[in-house]
Parts: sequence; C-alpha cells; structure tokens
Amino acid sequence: TEAEAVVVGVRVRPFQEREIQNNSMLCISMSQKSTSIFDSAGKDTMFTFDESFWSHDGYEDDGTGYLRPKRGSNYVDQKYVFNTFGKRVLDNAWNGYHCCLFAYGQTGSGKSYSMVGYGNNKGIVPISCEEIFRRIANDDSGNSYEVLVSAIEIYNEAVQDLLIPVEQRPRKGFEIRESKILGVYIDGITKRPVESYKAIHDTIEEATTHRTVGSTLMNATSSRAHTVLIIEFKTVTSCSTRVSMINLVDLAGSEKVKQTGAEGERMKEGAMINKSLSTLGNCIEKLAEKSTNPKKAVLVPYRESKLTRLLQNALGGSSKTIMICALSPASSNYEETLSTLRYADRAKKIKNKAVVNENPQE
Ligand code: ADP
Ligand code: MG
Repeated sequence: TEAEAVVVGVRVRPFQEREIQNNSMLCISMSQKSTSIFDSAGKDTMFTFDESFWSHDGYEDDGTGYLRPKRGSNYVDQKYVFNTFGKRVLDNAWNGYHCCLFAYGQTGSGKSYSMVGYGNNKGIVPISCEEIFRRIANDDSGNSYEVLVSAIEIYNEAVQDLLIPVEQRPRKGFEIRESKILGVYIDGITKRPVESYKAIHDTIEEATTHRTVGSTLMNATSSRAHTVLIIEFKTVTSCSTRVSMINLVDLAGSEKVKQTGAEGERMKEGAMINKSLSTLGNCIEKLAEKSTNPKKAVLVPYRESKLTRLLQNALGGSSKTIMICALSPASSNYEETLSTLRYADRAKKIKNKAVVNENPQE
C-alpha cells in the first residue's frame, strides 16, 4: 500500500454576538485551498490545506433554521462539509479501513458545530449515522452488516464510558489496552449494537447527558473533556469478515488556560487537557518528522497521554485520518488561531499506510 497523508481541512465560523458588539476585526481570508491570517499590522501568513471551508458569511436561513449559502456566495454549509469529509470516512469504512475524524481548535471556534451540529444544522456525526443505515438498507450485495457503538470521554486523564450513568463511573476510569487482534481498545466499555438510525441517535443522546460539562468565560456550555464516538462497523461477506473502527473525536478546547479566566479546579482541568493536547501536538510533530525522514528512528510519545494512546492507530498506524481545524474569525483570537493553523500545517505532513482489516471465515 501507498503511504497516504492525513487529510486536513480548516473552517472559519461567523462572528458571534459578543464579537460584533466588541467591533471585532476579521483576521482570516481564504482563497480556494489556502487560508491566510493577518496580524494587527496587516502582515499575513498563508497556509494551504486539503480544504479551506469558508463559513464566515454569505449564509441565510432556509426557513427551517438551516444555514445555506446565499445565491452566488462561497459559504460552506454542513452538507458541503459532510460531502467532502464525512462521505470520505464512510467510503473508507465500507472498504474495510479504520478511520478517524477529529476536530481541533480553541473553545468556541466551531468544533462541535462541524462534528455534531446544532438544531437543524446537523453535523458530520449525525449525518454519517443516517447515511450508514441508508447505505445498509440500499445494499443488495448479499453482505450483512453489524454496527456497534461506544461513546467515551477523556476527562482529567481518565477514560469514562458515556453509556453508563455518572454515579457508576469507576473513579480512575477505564484502562486502555492493546492486543494483536483488536489493536488498541478500551477494556470493559459498553459496545451497543444498533440496528437503525433512531437507535444510534438515541445512544448518542444518552451519551450526551452523561458528559462532564464545565463552563468557562469563553463558552458557557463547552465541554472541557475530549469526547470520542466509536463506531465498530462489521461487514460479513460469504468468505470473510471485515471490521473497521470509525473514531469521531471532538477534542476539548486548545486555548491556553489564562485566556479563559479559569482558576482552581478549572485550572487543573485546563492543565490536564493541555497535557493531552500538547502530547497530541508532540506526536503529530514526531510523526511528521518520521514521514519526512523515513530512515530516521523517531520515538512517538503515544503513551504520554490517554488521548494519544487511544488514537495511536488513527495517528500513526493503519488508519485513514481526517482532521478538521476550527478557526475563530476574530483578530482578538489571533494568537490561538495562528497556533491552530500551525498545528494543522504539521498534521498535513503525516503519512499513514492504511490496511484492510479482513479475516477469512473459518
Ligand atoms: P466549540 O465546540 O469549538 O467550542 P461550537 O461548535 O460550540 O464551538 O461553536 C461556537 C458557536 O459558534 C456556536 O454558537 C455555534 O453555533 C457557532 N458556530 C460555529 N461554527 C459555525 C458555522 N460554521 N456556522 C454558523 N455558526 C457556527
Ligand atoms: Mg464543543
């Protein structure tokens, strides 16, 4: 198999009410696949990605609350993002590859909007789930399919199962283990079989109510935890079984602690989250180095955080990986947004060799 680069896209959101009131300046521009960021002196830094999604302006409500592009505008709506990135994930899963899609960015930059969505503006996760069952229903190959769902969060470096009530959580969380057959997995978490979109939808809703939510000044309802929806997708054909794991990751905010006014407990959380995220950054850096210099011995520090340990396959192994980086348009967030763009730029250099996970029937 050919080594294939991680696919990276960035997306810029509209101004928020608060930013309009503060007369925020726009510091992002996009042209085709390029994104530029301007500092206060007007000096720009340009990056090129697989996709640069402009969702800052040029939209209108279609009457149902769904935001669509105005005639002639280049606004990228939820359907467009699904068609470019979501479909790719599903196609890969159908072909038997493990795949991972993760959203990166500071709190309030639009990670959850792209991944999960709000109201009628459904994100990649619900549309993908719908699409999975639509494809299964329309399949006339004679194959049979099995879909199992898990939902976890990583909070203060503990992995928790979101499909069990909060009171039943083991204090230190669940262990991440590795086996030849299963690869990296979480020991003992719920794997719920789902047979319809409704079942998967209800499972996600249930998981959402079990999330740990902490509010900061930047975003009152944003989660301070990393959440991962794991879809185990099995295809049984007359001669083999293929399993592909789909990891859909909504990362906690990447912002520095001081900006959010966090203190005490919140501060400690911030440090923990940043530990996971900075390890992710280190892994990305090392993997990029390894891809550029295949002969060099490079140690990738997956084991230094729960997040990277869990995403080990997705990042450096047999997985097709897509990263969507959410950008704030406001010049007041310049430093954070620049750091997100640099992160994205580094991720682009990683090359993986995905393999089909097939076992002959005995
Ligand atoms: P995050 O998950 O990164 O903390 P959210 O996804 O919750 O951020 O987005 C913050 C706010 O910005 C939300 O109110 C959301 O509705 C809005 N938003 C984000 N992205 C878009 C977009 N592409 N179009 C319209 N509104 C958006
Ligand atoms: Mg969020």
